[in-house]
Order: sequence, then C-alpha cells, then structure tokens
Amino acid sequence: MRVIVVHGGAGAADAEREARRRAGCLEAARRGWAILRQGGDAVEAVVEAVTALEDDPEFNAGLGAVLTRDGQIQLDAAVMRGWDRAAGAVAWVARTRNPVRLARLLLDRETVLMVGPPADALAAEAGLPQVDPTALITPRQRERLATFLASRRVEEGGTVGAVARDGSGGVAAATSTGGRLGQRYGRVGDTPVIGASTYADQRGAASATGTGEAFIRAVAAFRAVSALDHTSPDDAATAALAAVTEVGGRGGLIVVNARGEFGVAFTTGQMVHAWVREGEEGTGA
Ligand code: ASP
Repeated sequence: MRVIVVHGGAGAADAEREARRRAGCLEAARRGWAILRQGGDAVEAVVEAVTALEDDPEFNAGLGAVLTRDGQIQLDAAVMRGWDRAAGAVAWVARTRNPVRLARLLLDRETVLMVGPPADALAAEAGLPQVDPTALITPRQRERLATFLASRRVEEGGTVGAVARDGSGGVAAATSTGGRLGQRYGRVGDTPVIGASTYADQRGAASATGTGEAFIRAVAAFRAVSALDHTSPDDAATAALAAVTEVGGRGGLIVVNARGEFGVAFTTGQMVHAWVREGEEGTGA
C-alpha cells in the first residue's frame, strides 16, 4: 500500500503553533502523496514533502531555521533510497534554499556527504536556487535566539522529515534541520548522519528528530529499520527511542515498512506529524 508520513519535529508547541504545524505537515504530506498517486517513486515523494516543510517558516528547516549561538544559519539534510541503499547528505549549508534537494542530488553521485561552502557551490552548479543566508532568517528565530541567550528556556522542535512507500514497494526517507537553537557554530547533529536520523533499505525507512548526539550514539534510524525484521513499525520506533533514552536523549521517529504500514513514536511532549494513504489522511501530535 502506498503511503507517506511526515513529521514536524519533536518538542512542544502552544495550541496555535501546533495547529499551524499540523496544517503544514498535512499540506506537505499531500504534496508527497500527489507524486505517489501519479506513479512517482518514494524518493521523489519524500523530497517533495520535505521541500514543502523547508519552505514553511513554521519549521526548523530551510526558511525559518533556528540560529546558531552567534546568529548564523547552518542547515543539514539527508535522503536515503531503500531499494539500492543510495544515500546523500549535506551539513553546514547556508545558501541553498532547499538543502533536501542538494542531498537528493548526491543519491546519483559517488559522494555521500558534503559540507559547508563547497556543498553550496555544488548546489549552485547544479542550478538549485541559492539565497543570501540572511534571507532564511525570520524575525521569530532572531527573537528565540535572544530569549535562549538570556534565559536558555526555549522550546525545541521543528526539524522535519518524511518516509514513504511507493506503488512498486520501494521506500525512502528524508530529514532536514537547522540543528539545535543556539548551538555552537560548526556543531553538527544527527540529521546528516546516515543511520542516525535517516535510514532506508529493503525492509523500510525511518526519519528522526530530537537530541542529535543521542540519536547518533544510538544509531537510531538504522536500529528502527533493523527491528522491522521481527516487529511492527510502531514497536520498531519505540525500541529505537528506548536506545536513545538509554544514552540520555529524547525525540521521535516515523517508520514505514515495505508493506506500507507505518509507526510513530516520541518521548517529547509532542511530535506533530501527518500521513496520507489511499482514501485516508490524518494528523497527530
Ligand atoms: N536532531 C536535530 C539536531 O540535533 C534537532 C532536532 O531534531 O530538534 O540537530
């Protein structure tokens, strides 16, 4: 069964923000679904959905991403294709409007991971839209950084991701983030680390959000997909999160298996998410 599931980050949001994030996730899932319905593959569907979320300032990815401690934009993204385990990831990009599209580009090249200005340069060479990094900074994120620097009490959340299963049984995952609010410039979390928060193979696909360091140490997304050998997507997501908890982290995961069954789990107050499949769509938080 064809399906797409997206998440809008683990964390907490007030009722108004939650409603906007649910709407943004559903819209992104519908865009990915339109591709699946027309016979497109799972990679194109997850990239389309994550692009929509990167363009939505409500989320911590692309436009509206969180800022580093010194007020800079630092974007990470990854894509993985289940049927041949091709993977592409980028870290510390700042000029590429849709980092997930740059990660997608790498699927067809030998290089899996690129970082920094050379990654942006590759995107420009390939004709992906470039912007001045300040064009991605929203007034809200400037305010949040100021609050963070003054009190350190700011809610997290807003990283985005998607998993999908297409009509041929292929699966894919994509994740995109601006990292952690107020992080040291140069810190890289789990999002561009294949296996940590993005993973896909013939068994299924997973995308994660949360305390990046813990997701790396728990190899969380790979762990979730591996658990599909013997359990449901819901239980696989829960098991991966238990491993994240063991190393002191919190967050959430979306998982889809090769049959198109999906699971969602999170250990934070919320993880806004949405899904679309034949004759059904919904949101959760
Ligand atoms: N996992 C992301 C990071 O650590 C942040 C998040 O998901 O909230 O960079």
